Amino acid sequence: MIRKSIIIGGVEIRPGERKTFDIAVARLYTHTDMTIPITVIHGVEEGPTLFICAAIHGDEIQGVEIIRRLLKLENLKNIKGTLIAIPVVNVFGFINQTRYSPDRRDLNRFFPGTDSGSLTSQLAKLFMEEIIEKCTHGIDLHTGSNHRTNLPQIRAYLDDPETEKLAKAFGAPVILDANLLGGSLRQAVKDIGIPVLLYEAGEVLRFDEVSIQAGINGILAVMSEIKMMQLDQHTESTITPLIAHSSTWVRAPISGILRNKIELGQSVSENEILGVVSDPFGDDEENVIAGASGIIIGQLKLPLVYKGDAVFHIAKFDSKSAAKNTIEAFRQEFEPET
Ligand SMILES: [Zn+2]
Repeated sequence: MIRKSIIIGGVEIRPGERKTFDIAVARLYTHTDMTIPITVIHGVEEGPTLFICAAIHGDEIQGVEIIRRLLKLENLKNIKGTLIAIPVVNVFGFINQTRYSPDRRDLNRFFPGTDSGSLTSQLAKLFMEEIIEKCTHGIDLHTGSNHRTNLPQIRAYLDDPETEKLAKAFGAPVILDANLLGGSLRQAVKDIGIPVLLYEAGEVLRFDEVSIQAGINGILAVMSEIKMMQLDQHTESTITPLIAHSSTWVRAPISGILRNKIELGQSVSENEILGVVSDPFGDDEENVIAGASGIIIGQLKLPLVYKGDAVFHIAKFDSKSAAKNTIEAFRQEFEPET
């Protein structure tokens, strides 16, 4: 039996076709049409429909590069099912190099959106209707925000066995069994029963090679897991991710200038000194103390802090040695030897 075409944004993509086109969003006040670019690969054979999207936060550009490189891969030609890639969801924010929409809203708090709400809410609704509701699986690509960088990690709702399977297959060193955020794409997608992963790695407006490679490999591993393609054995990940069921932020004890004493991915113990905050003369000084044992999965890179600013993000783990081994295995797989 011949597979049916898929129609997105009024464009028909037939079985065996690959198309790149634009979905109309709204006009700019210059009379210019604003559109979301999208690539659809509609396989000849039946299979899952996977969306991969990036830059819901317009300054989180690393996922755009992950998708660009992914779409260059030869073995996408023979996929089973359908791949829908949306490298820039928040086109307005991307152009302005900012997290937000032009109406200063965070798109990732407005899903599933409404027809009659703000521009941001209407964009969310359009995205859900035209793309997400036609999918069976999804991966949403993000980075740290606001001068923070993240260790490659998957955030997922592990109560769902299918989601858990995909999260493990992705092969990032850490899975955070994270609570869902109201209005987030991840929440809206889960609500309509579609397993979805959120990949967090790196920082805004920058590329980080390890995060990009780990992202591409992770997506391919998920595609293999849901039988859209077969991976060569040597590209299969050897990482068994660490699963954290909770995490905590360590905050600056005083306002001042921060000196970090540890790196992303390092294992730390409760009460360990992670950094020092001092005034410009070094007179007034206080240590930043770990509130829990675990791995540093996020870190502030801007050394200027106010009291209470979130400085280190710790994923909580009991076993320090297991955590250390996993991070080392990940580094060996992805970091070039020096
Ligand atoms: Zn984000």
